[in-house]
This record gives sequence, structure tokens and C-alpha cells, in this order.
Amino acid sequence: MPENLNSMNPSHVFDRLTVCLDMAGCPNRCLHCWLGHGPNGRFSTEDLAWTARQFRPFARSLEVFSWYREPDFRADYRALWELERSLSDGKTPHFELMSTWRAARDADYIPWLKGLGVRAVQLTFFGGRVVTDRYTGRIGAYDEMVSLIEPLRRHGILPRFQVFVNRENIDQMGEIVQLARRTGLADEPAFRAFVHAGSCDGANEALYPIRVTPEDVQRLPEPLVLWTEEHLKRPISEVFGRTEAEWMKRLLDDSRPIGSPLEGPAVLYVDADWDVYPNVTAPRPAWRLGNLRADGAQTVLRRYREQDTPALRICREMPVNQLAAACGDANSQRLFTRGDFLIYLVNRYVRGRNFY
Ligand code: SF4
Repeated sequence: MPENLNSMNPSHVFDRLTVCLDMAGCPNRCLHCWLGHGPNGRFSTEDLAWTARQFRPFARSLEVFSWYREPDFRADYRALWELERSLSDGKTPHFELMSTWRAARDADYIPWLKGLGVRAVQLTFFGGRVVTDRYTGRIGAYDEMVSLIEPLRRHGILPRFQVFVNRENIDQMGEIVQLARRTGLADEPAFRAFVHAGSCDGANEALYPIRVTPEDVQRLPEPLVLWTEEHLKRPISEVFGRTEAEWMKRLLDDSRPIGSPLEGPAVLYVDADWDVYPNVTAPRPAWRLGNLRADGAQTVLRRYREQDTPALRICREMPVNQLAAACGDANSQRLFTRGDFLIYLVNRYVRGRNFY
């Protein structure tokens, strides 16, 4: 391995590199989870330090995280936060994501978030209690989230509702508005909730048959539409995108490949088996860059740079009209954004060729 940045080909050094180790996984098994339902990791703090050491020679600025599923799920979340920062050049403030599982069990957690400067956090609902528990994959998830609204506000942290909708739960959307009103959140000028369909990969790909159509979107309650448009700063029609049939018409006329889905600074996910994936879609074999223990960081990063995995090669080389003809449905009224539809096509294509 090269000893320092000066001994390396400058084009092989990343200006910014973020590496996320799935040290503990997640207490939930959400039906919409784009990361899929892989086993929870069981890593030590030395494993995180070792991971940082492997990537450090290849980055001018390195940032490591101890999670890419539920942040702060582990009981030693404070120590992990400190360790992440000591191993990282970049110091991203705490995300507006929290562990509701941890918050419901640890009275020190919300004050700790406040102390880090967190002013808003996201709570994810799918409707009322029964539906939210079923979609979160855990009995009690809904009650836990509702029980956190008051303590969060008391500590100056404003909850924001994220809502995933499909044809099965769309009639539950009024429950979200009622919850916001019942808890007084709807009266807070800064309160926001937003609704979307999510991407169509990972566990969420199984919900393709019940993906929303333009008719369904018309049934969303008005307050939820207004909150969504205010939060995402675009009309609700753009949030949900175009029908699959419309995308098919456009894509079948396009003989260019998708191109690179690796935009912006590099972000890598390291799963419970040390397999490494780019932050594009669900961590699955067709996207796998290598195994950090077996192949090493240099090989993993070369494959990232050269986009050398079956799925990344398809993005680079395969004409999009061929991809659409092979995997799309020209009669489908299901709604997609362009990016979500392209990744859905790639995932369908590679699965059909046994890369999964
Ligand atoms: S969506 Fe988030 S909270 Fe739900 S299972 Fe996936 S990582 Fe966990």
C-alpha cells in the first residue's frame, strides 16, 4: 500500500471520501427500505479505526461514519460520535436523523442531540398505528414516535414527518394530518411534513405493484400536499414524477447509456460482511466493489473510479432504450422520478441475469 499521498498518482487520490461502516444495523425492517434487510453488523470500535486506516492514504479529506442505517442505535452512541470525529477530517454536523428506538429508551439521548445543535429531526410514518407498525416492521414503533414529539419540542427540536405512500396506505394519509393537528405541530409555522413514494429498490422494489398513479396523488389531503411543496420546494407533480408509460416513451427513443450514477464526492457503504458498495442503491452483488478485508481499499477504490461492477458497467455502456425495452412496462401508470426509474431498470436487468 502507498505510504502517503505524495507517493500516489494524484488522479487516484480522492479529494473527498466518505466511508460508512454498518456497525450495528437497524432495529427496524421497513417495507420501503431502499437499503434492504441485510443482517445487522457487529463491529468493534477498533474495526472502525481499522477501516479509516485502510482508506486514509487515498483521500485528501476523509470522513468516516459508524452507520448507514439507523444512527445512534448502539448504546455507546456518544463514544462512536467522538470516535468518528477523531478519525475524520470532515466534521459534518449531526444529521436531522435520529434513532427513535434509542430515544424511547434513553432519557439522555434527546438532550445530547440538542447539545450537538440538532434543531429538527425526521419521524417516518405510513399512516396510523397499525399501518405504521406493519410498515416499520416493529410493534410499538408508532407509539414510540408519537411519545417523542413532546420531549423533542421541549428541548427545542422540531419534528418533521416523512411519509411514504403507496396504493395500499393512501387512505391513511388523513391520519398524518390529524396527528399533526392533535399534537399542535400543525400550528407551528416551521412545521413540515412531506410525502413521497420512495425509490423502487431494496425492500421497496417489492412494493412496485402498489406504487401510486396520478389518480392516487389526487387523493392526498390538501395540508399534506402544501407541507410537501413547502418543504421540498417543488410542486407535488414533480415530487412523484411521471408515469412509467411516459418514461418508456422517452427512453425508447434514446440510444445513449445512462452514464455515471456516481455523482459528487465519493460515499462508500461497508456492510456486515466487509463488502463495499457505492452509495447509489441497495447494497447488492451487482454493485459490489469488493471486500475490504479480502481485496483491500486500493482495489475497491480502483473499481469505484473505473466503475467496474456489473451494474455500473450497464450504466456506462448499455443504451437506455435496450434497458427500457428489456425491463420497463409501456402501459404502467406507476409514478417515478427519472433517476428512480433508471435505477429500478438497472436493478431489474441485473437480477434477470443472475448478478443477484
Ligand atoms: S428505512 Fe431506515 S429505519 Fe427503516 S429499516 Fe431501512 S435503515 Fe432501518
